[in-house]
Amino acid sequence: MADKYTDFVSRGWGRDLAKRLGLPQPVALRRYEPGAPLVAGPVLLVGAGAGADALETALKGWDVEVLRDPGVAPAAGGTHDAGASPSSSAPPAAPAGAGRSGAKLGGIVLALDTVARPEDLSGPILAAGRALRSLGPSARVVTVSRRSSTADEPALAAARAGVDGILRSLAKELHSGATGNGILLAEGVEADAPSALGALRFLLSGRSAFVDGQFLTVGTAKGELPADPEKPLAGKVAVVTGAARGIGAAIARTLARDGAKVVVVDVPAAGDSLAKVANEVRGTALQLDITKPEAGERILEHALARHGALDILVHNAGITRDKLLANMDPARWDSVIAVNIAAQLRINEALLGSGRLGDGFRLVSVASTSGIAGNRGQTNYAASKAGVIGMVRSTAARLAASGGSANAVAPGFIETEMTARIPFATREVARRLNSLQQGGLPLDVAEAIAFLASDAAGGISGNVLRVCGQNLVGQ
Ligand code: NAD
Repeated sequence: MADKYTDFVSRGWGRDLAKRLGLPQPVALRRYEPGAPLVAGPVLLVGAGAGADALETALKGWDVEVLRDPGVAPAAGGTHDAGASPSSSAPPAAPAGAGRSGAKLGGIVLALDTVARPEDLSGPILAAGRALRSLGPSARVVTVSRRSSTADEPALAAARAGVDGILRSLAKELHSGATGNGILLAEGVEADAPSALGALRFLLSGRSAFVDGQFLTVGTAKGELPADPEKPLAGKVAVVTGAARGIGAAIARTLARDGAKVVVVDVPAAGDSLAKVANEVRGTALQLDITKPEAGERILEHALARHGALDILVHNAGITRDKLLANMDPARWDSVIAVNIAAQLRINEALLGSGRLGDGFRLVSVASTSGIAGNRGQTNYAASKAGVIGMVRSTAARLAASGGSANAVAPGFIETEMTARIPFATREVARRLNSLQQGGLPLDVAEAIAFLASDAAGGISGNVLRVCGQNLVGQ
C-alpha cells in the first residue's frame, strides 16, 4: 500500500526532477495527535458582526491566537488600511502574515453569515486572498455562512450560494496540505451553536486531514461540546460492522481512542482478525453476517447484554463485485445490494423499532464517491452507496424527534487492501486525482465518522461528508 511515487518526489533528485517537470508533489498531511495544538499557527478571522465576535471567543477558548480583519474591501486604486478591529492583536491585513510569534498562519476563518448580496462577498474574500501566501503547511481555510434556500430573496440566495463556488475553487488553489471547507448554518442557527463550533474544531484540526472542498450543514442548535475534547465519546457504546480489517478496524480504533466502548462485528470467517481488533480496542467481538434476518436483534442483544447501551452504530461493512452492466449477473448484483444497503435497512428497522435505544442515537453509514458521481463497472455498488445516502436522509428525519442523527461519510480513494489490488497505472492516476494529490488513510475516514458520532455533531443530521481530498469526480 506504500505510495512509492510520494516517497520518490519527496527527497533528493526525485524532488528536483518533479519540480522541474511540474509533476505533483504531495506532502505528508498534518494528522491529529492527542495533546497537539488545534492548528499549527495563529488564525486570521475575517469578517465583522456578532457571528465573527462569537467565533473569536470560541477560538481564544481553544488557545488559538486570533488576528482580526473586518474584511472591508480597499477603495479602488487606494491602499488597504490595516483595518484591524479594536480587539485585534493583528498586524496590517495585507499580508496578514504572522502572529505574535512570527509563525505562519495556521488558518483563516471567514465569518460570512451576514452576506446579503453578491457584492458583499468582495471585502472578506479579497481580505482572505491577501493572506493566503502567509498560510503555513496543512493550514485550514474555513468559511462560516448561511445555507441558501428557496425561501431566500434571489440576491440573498445568490450571495449564499456564491460561497459554495468560492470555497470549492479556493480549496483547489491551496497547496502544501492546506484544505478549505465550509460550515453552512440553517436559518436561526447561530455561529456559536454547539455543532457549528464542533464542526469548526473538526475542520481546523488534524482530524480532517483528507476532508477538502466540503461543507457541513448545521441544521439545528442541538448538540453539546464534550467536557474533554480529547475524549469526545467517553461513556458511549458503539457498534462497528466490517471491523476485522481496513477502514472498519480503523473506525474501531478511533472510536476507542476517543473514549467509546466498541463492539466489532464481522463475518465468522474473519473471526481471528476480529478478535485481534476487539482485544486491541478493549472491546467485544460479535461474529455475524449482517445479511442474516436476525442481525439487528443480535447486535442489540450483544450491546445491551455486554455493555448496557447502544449509542452509536457505524454501518461500514461493504463489498464490491464490479462488472460492466452489459455483463452483470444476478449474483453480483444481488450480493452487493444485500450487504451494502438491504442489511443496513433491516438492522435499522430492528434497532429503531425496538424502543430500547436511548435518546441521541447516532447512526453513521459509509457511502462512497461512486454513489455520488457514479463509476464505470459499478452500477450495483453505486446503487447501494447512493441508496445509503437516501437512507440516511430519510432516517435523519425519523431520528430528529429523539435528538438522534443519521449521516453518511463518502470516502474517495483510500489506501486499503481493496485499492492496493487496482492495477498500478490505474491506481496511480486515481490517487492523484484530488487536490491533495494522494490517497487518504483509513484513519481519515475514521476521524470523520468519530466526529459525526459525537454529541458535538448533534445538530448535524442528514449530511453526506466526503473524505476524498476534493476528488475531481462528482460534486
Ligand atoms: P474491506 O474489504 O477491507 O473490509 C470490509 C469488511 O467488511 C471485511 O472485514 C469484510 O469481512 C466485512 N464484511 C463484508 N461482508 C460482510 C457481511 N455480510 N457481514 C459482516 N461483515 C462483512 O473494505 P474497506 O476498503 O475497508 O471498506 C470499508 C467500507 O468503505 C465499505 O463499505 C466500502 O464500500 C467503503 N469504501 C471504501 C473505499 C476505499 O477506497 N477502500 C472507498 C469508498 C468506500
